[in-house]
Amino acid sequence: MSDSNIKDVLEQSSQRIANKCIVLLVDDQPIIAEGIRRMLEGENDMVFHYCEDPSNAIKMAADINATVVLQDLVMPDIDGMTLVRFFRANMETRNIPIIVLSSKEDAQIKSDAFSNGASDYLVKLPDPIELCARIRAHSKSYSVQLERDAAFLALRETQKQLEESNRKLQELSSLDGLTGIANRRHFDEELGTEWRRATRNKTTLSIIMIDIDFFKPYNDNYGHQSGDSCLQDVAKTLKETIVRPADTVARYGGEEFVAILPETDSKGAAVVAEHLRKAIESLKIPHEHSESGQHVSISLGVAESTGLTEPETLLKHADKCLYEAKESGRNCVIVAKIAE
Ligand code: GH3
Ligand code: MG
Ligand code: MG
Repeated sequence: MSDSNIKDVLEQSSQRIANKCIVLLVDDQPIIAEGIRRMLEGENDMVFHYCEDPSNAIKMAADINATVVLQDLVMPDIDGMTLVRFFRANMETRNIPIIVLSSKEDAQIKSDAFSNGASDYLVKLPDPIELCARIRAHSKSYSVQLERDAAFLALRETQKQLEESNRKLQELSSLDGLTGIANRRHFDEELGTEWRRATRNKTTLSIIMIDIDFFKPYNDNYGHQSGDSCLQDVAKTLKETIVRPADTVARYGGEEFVAILPETDSKGAAVVAEHLRKAIESLKIPHEHSESGQHVSISLGVAESTGLTEPETLLKHADKCLYEAKESGRNCVIVAKIAE
C-alpha cells in the first residue's frame, strides 16, 4: 500500500470518527424512512441516508462510508436475509454493522437474521431512544475497528520501509563507496566465515592479493579523478572475471584488492590470478608512466590455507608474494610455497 493510500485510509477512518454515525436506511417504504429520519433529526452526531432500492444498497453504503446500516427484511425484489449476506460477502461492506428492522418480534426470523450476519434486530418502528443508543454503540465499535485496522496497516507499511532501509544500509555498509564491490569490512567478515568453514570441512581456502602497478604515477599524471575511474574499471573487471558464486573480491584499501576463493588450492587460485592479470591487461587502459608496459597492469600474490592456523598468516603469505611479484618486474603472479 502506498503512502497516499494509507493517508486515504487514515483520513477516512478519522472522518468517520469525527463525522460520527453515518446511517444508511434500506427500506422500500418511504413512510418508514420518514419515521426514522424524524427520530434521528435532532441528533447532531448522526447523518441520515436513505436507500429505497435495495439493489443499490451495497454500493451506496460503500460510497457514503456508512458506519451502520438499518435494513428492512421484507422488500419487493430481494429477500432481506439475502441482502444481509450480500453485505457480508462484499469486501467494502463486510464489517459494517447491520441492524435489521423487522415487522415482527419472531424468534425464528431473529435467529435467521443473526445467522446470516446481522448485528442487531429491532422491530419497526423502534423506540427512538433505543434506536439511537444502538446506532451509536454499533457505529462507535465499527469506527474503532476501522481505526485499529488503519493503524495496523500503517504500522505494517512502516515496518516494511524500515526493513528495506535496513537492507540498503546493510548493503551499503558492506560495499566500497567508490567501486561498488565488497569493502574491507565485508572482506574481514567473509574471510573469518570461510576460514571457519574450511577448518570445519577440512577444505583448502586460497586468497589472492592484488595491487595496481605504478598507480602513484598514474594519479600524478592523469589526475585523481582519472585514478578513481581507473580503480572503478579495475574493480569491475576483477569482479566480472571471478565467476564462482562462493568467491569474493573486495577492495582491500587504496589501489589494493583481494579475492577469497573457498575450496580452492593455490594451484587453482594461480589459474584464477592469471585470468585476473590478463583481464586487466586486456582493458588496455593507457598508462604512459608505467615502467612495466604501456597500459595499467596488476601484480598478484597467491597463498593457500594448508598448514596454517590463522587467517592473518594466510594474508601475510599472500602479501609477501605480492611484494615478490613487484620485485620481479610487476604484471605477474607469484604463488606461495605450501607451508609444511
Ligand atoms: P607499485 O607498482 O609498487 O604498487 O606502485 P604504486 O605507485 O602503485 O604504489 P603506491 O603505494 O606508491 O601508490 C599507491 C597510490 O594509490 C597512491 C595513492 O594516491 C593512490 N590511491 C589510493 N587510493 C586511491 C583512491 O581512492 N583514488 C585514487 N585516485 N588514488 C588512490
Ligand atoms: Mg600499487
Ligand atoms: Mg599499494
